Amino acid sequence: MRMTVIGTGYVGTVHAACMADIGHQVLGLDIDAERIAALSAGRAPLHEDGLDALLARTVASGRLRFSTSLAEGAAFAGTHFVCVGTPQRPDGGAADLSQVDAVVDGLAPHLRPGSLLVGKSTVPVGTAARLAGRLAAAAPGTEVAWNPEFLREGSAVLDTMRPERLVVGVTSARAEAVLREVYAPMIRAGVPFFGTDPATAELVKVASNAFLATKISFINAMAEVCDAAGADATVLAGAIGADPRIGPRFLAPGLGFGGSCFPKDIRAFAARAEEIGAGEAVAFLHEVDRINTRQRRRTVDRARLLLGGSSAGRRVAVLGAAFKPGSDDVRDSPALAVAAALRAQGAEVRVHDPEALDNARAVRPELTYALDVDKACEGADLVLHLTDWPEYRSVDPAALASLVRSPVLLDARNGLDPALWTAAGWTVHAPGRPGLSGGAS
Ligand code: NAD
Repeated sequence: MRMTVIGTGYVGTVHAACMADIGHQVLGLDIDAERIAALSAGRAPLHEDGLDALLARTVASGRLRFSTSLAEGAAFAGTHFVCVGTPQRPDGGAADLSQVDAVVDGLAPHLRPGSLLVGKSTVPVGTAARLAGRLAAAAPGTEVAWNPEFLREGSAVLDTMRPERLVVGVTSARAEAVLREVYAPMIRAGVPFFGTDPATAELVKVASNAFLATKISFINAMAEVCDAAGADATVLAGAIGADPRIGPRFLAPGLGFGGSCFPKDIRAFAARAEEIGAGEAVAFLHEVDRINTRQRRRTVDRARLLLGGSSAGRRVAVLGAAFKPGSDDVRDSPALAVAAALRAQGAEVRVHDPEALDNARAVRPELTYALDVDKACEGADLVLHLTDWPEYRSVDPAALASLVRSPVLLDARNGLDPALWTAAGWTVHAPGRPGLSGGAS
């Protein structure tokens, strides 16, 4: 099949390359000419396992090309996947749909009759219907469907090739048939397919993110209670997660969520629910958000206490800058937010990350960056573990102890083995585990 993928960011690049790999003819479109030039040369704009090879293979095969021209896209195919950004508006929690609207308006005059626009961007419920209204006059006969994206950064290629489910919201049997054909290999492999209306499809995405964000904030709230009660939140999480109705995933007490999706998606969901008269139903999302941002503040406060009450002039090593392991994405990264807050208090902060240093440097030039863990930790008064990269679990705490000024670890992700670090001479602190180093600090 022929298709375009409009917006070659995280979602669009991965979607375009995967669709080409399963045999489709794909034209990727973006307004960023530099990005399009790099992609045409087979260079991905982001780090994701398997993406470089996939891109090289599909570009070389001729099945994947890139362009900046929407007119070329409309002439090339009748099916268009829209993957542009839907960031938070600067004036509140609602989603900024200007990129989506710009694509629709730019494409409309060129669309052939019977075209299908398939949204993958995360949008407020009602967006597909609004866009269909917008296109009714400008491009009659164009259908707008919604096919939300569930890929996780860090496993984006795998998630696209073998998603846990496919959700398509359509207004005609023809559109559903087109999307079933697009995803035929996945459907044949047994991936559950949910065919529904566009409003339900739009809501599935934001409801999923709201549920996961709630689960994370729930366990972080429990960690705060554990800190006050002298209980262990990691044992608590393991024990409540053993109940299959609850489940262990997303139940690790830590620094909370960040990235380009969860924070803005729950705010946009709450804002949209308010607009349609259902604000009370999701008022709890404001609390989920507050609990989440509080974890960053608590980590900074705790670090300052461990530095003796003032961060000024103290040297802090930060392990991790990406918003989560497996990604070089630093958008709304809790790790970088904590590092920057300590820097603002006068600490000398040295940050290490296996993949995200370039992106981190671009947004936080005031921080110092180190290419290896040893360099980050040399002479440190405190080591902060802020992104749970597997690499950090194989660090030798005994060797590191000889490099730092004081062997004090704040494991804000509860990802390192406290017994191992304590045995190597470290004092270990972690959220929800006041017993680790003899009482809450
Ligand atoms: P991104 O910011 O990485 O990419 C957006 C791309 O769209 C950029 O390359 C930008 O240049 C391009 N663009 C902007 N305006 C354009 C226009 N008028 N015409 C053509 N291209 C244009 O965003 P992303 O992380 O890929 O997210 C895209 C959407 O998918 C968002 O709605 C997001 O919430 C959702 N989503 C993201 C993820 C994720 O893990 N990143 C997962 C699921 C859903």
